[in-house]
Amino acid sequence: MNFRQIHKFGSRIKMLPRCLVFDLDGCVWDPEMYELWGGGGAPFKKNKDGTLSDKAGTRVYLLGAVKEIMHEFKTDPKWKDSKICVASSCDEPSWARECIKLFEIGDGHTLKDVFDSNNIEIYKRSKDYHLKEIANKTGVPLEEMIFFDNQMNNCNTVSRIGVTVVYTPEGVTRKAFDEGIEKYPAPGEIIGPKERGYF
Ligand SMILES: [Mg+2]
Repeated sequence: MNFRQIHKFGSRIKMLPRCLVFDLDGCVWDPEMYELWGGGGAPFKKNKDGTLSDKAGTRVYLLGAVKEIMHEFKTDPKWKDSKICVASSCDEPSWARECIKLFEIGDGHTLKDVFDSNNIEIYKRSKDYHLKEIANKTGVPLEEMIFFDNQMNNCNTVSRIGVTVVYTPEGVTRKAFDEGIEKYPAPGEIIGPKERGYF
């Protein structure tokens, strides 16, 4: 049975997304990289509490349950067939890549160990482009992906191409993540709070 048949017949088999795609700024971490402009930014250094500090001393930290969820991706066998990808339009891609390398998620692993190295898409384009690129490179259909973003405009754009979308105005919390996984597959739907938040 293929994906569409399973979906159509409402199988009770719990399906997991084959690609889980995350926005970075305001979704995985905070503050957003552009907020470090004016003397801050790279190089970043690690702090003992798991946060990073930029060169101006501003702390960047992982939001919600990101640390434990990323650790689960790395260690729980149920995720072994899923790719963890990035779709970001961050203003400072090199800073973002440095943060990915430095942020620890437990047992000596960093975000870099979790994200699929071929599918870290960080550039200024409409987010549907990032998701289509990931589909092209992985061969995974858009309907078999789930996408997390803290901006409703990006959620709208990506939902229109048939991805299951989770709106995370406070970053990836445990509640937002679990609700998204529970409701997946919901191609074209936006899961999460209905109010538009900041955007
Ligand atoms: Mg964002």
